[in-house]
Amino acid sequence: MSTVLVIGAGGVSSVCVHKMAMNPDIFTNIHLASRTKSKCDTIAASVKERTGVDVSTYEIDAEEVPAMVNLIKKIGPELVVNLALPYQDLPIMDACLEAGVDYLDTANYEPKDEAKFEYHWQWAYQDRFKSAGLMALLGSGFDPGVTSVFTMWLKKHKLKTIRQLDILDCNGGDHGQAFATNFNPEINIREVTAPARHWENGEFVETPAMGKKVEFDFEAVGPKNMYMMYHEELESLAKFNPEMERARFWMTFGDEYIKHLTVLQNVGMTRIDPVRYQGKDIIPLQFLAAVLPKPETLGETTKGNTNIGVIATGEALDGSGEKTFYINNICSHEAAYEETGNQAVSYTTGVPAMIGSAMMVTGKWTGDGVFNMEEMDPDPFMDMLNEHGLPWQVKELDGPVDF
Ligand code: NDP
Repeated sequence: MSTVLVIGAGGVSSVCVHKMAMNPDIFTNIHLASRTKSKCDTIAASVKERTGVDVSTYEIDAEEVPAMVNLIKKIGPELVVNLALPYQDLPIMDACLEAGVDYLDTANYEPKDEAKFEYHWQWAYQDRFKSAGLMALLGSGFDPGVTSVFTMWLKKHKLKTIRQLDILDCNGGDHGQAFATNFNPEINIREVTAPARHWENGEFVETPAMGKKVEFDFEAVGPKNMYMMYHEELESLAKFNPEMERARFWMTFGDEYIKHLTVLQNVGMTRIDPVRYQGKDIIPLQFLAAVLPKPETLGETTKGNTNIGVIATGEALDGSGEKTFYINNICSHEAAYEETGNQAVSYTTGVPAMIGSAMMVTGKWTGDGVFNMEEMDPDPFMDMLNEHGLPWQVKELDGPVDF
């Protein structure tokens, strides 16, 4: 029995709200608020049609803390689920503290004028959440989120220590567009154009963006080029697994995507600093995002699978020497669309957001303060992945990765 307030009405929110409605024993009352109320209403109408559940909708600018506090107090939820953009993380955390309610998100805070992907802004809320007796759970999407839980499950059940970790994120889906991003284009392009960083011997090593490419044969997708890049869970994984010698993140991109992105970057369209245009300051990347296809419109045409997982090498728990395990999920774009009206990139983020919320409102994951996924017991979360559309598999590999 719980009341939740979800903020944001994009693809991730749509999946999360549908999945919450499919679990009425856990989520009794669902409230949805975002900047554009009509988008909340569209999600609510789809949820009603698919599940029969009513979702209450509201208009809110989540950066207006007093308005957020009023809304939270009016609704009285146990949990605020932040599925807006990373820029809204801190104001929503402020509002949760003031209104006395728990918090969850799927992406770490970012200032609008810097692409940093660092947790320190949100970790700085630790004392305030702790002394208020409230819980904030950071990064309950797929990556970050499931990738962190996968790693900690391996460390609980298979490996005593982790020496090497590689996170492999493959989207084998084809949306039929020359260039489009599968989640918020502004956030996606900021992430991809940032320099690569990986963890090696106790520190982050920075290398040029898209500078390291490897071909990998993904199950249910086939061979794909993947590129080493920075991703925020590397910071929390390194913090909670200090024994790691190396941790890297890889994402697949097709040649067409790289070609378009290179041109856009070369002509300055991915800049995040203001440019004066016709007497007005505009951010080129925000303008680009406005003209690109909206991720939520790609669902109908996207075909194929995602395959996201973790390869970890370390000392086996049973004392049998060094072992390597690969743990992953394969998700079909078509099946995700049929179930929720959204493609698999939104699905693989929205389902873990629902599961993280379920962990909190059912009291399976508790605590006072600000927590990353690595700090929680992976088992109940992993069980729910299997039950709610993101089944996982684990297999032993012959040895460590050779790339
Ligand atoms: P979308 O851009 O599709 O949706 C974002 C929503 O937030 C929109 O409805 C937008 O409103 C709303 N919003 C933006 N600003 C405000 C504001 N000031 N107040 C209230 N609402 C606001 O994004 P996605 O659904 O693709 O992604 C949602 C989140 O999930 C992002 O933070 C993203 O980084 C994260 N993510 C995490 C992943 C993971 O695996 N951990 C993977 C993919 C995404 P409007 O409709 O008016 O624009």
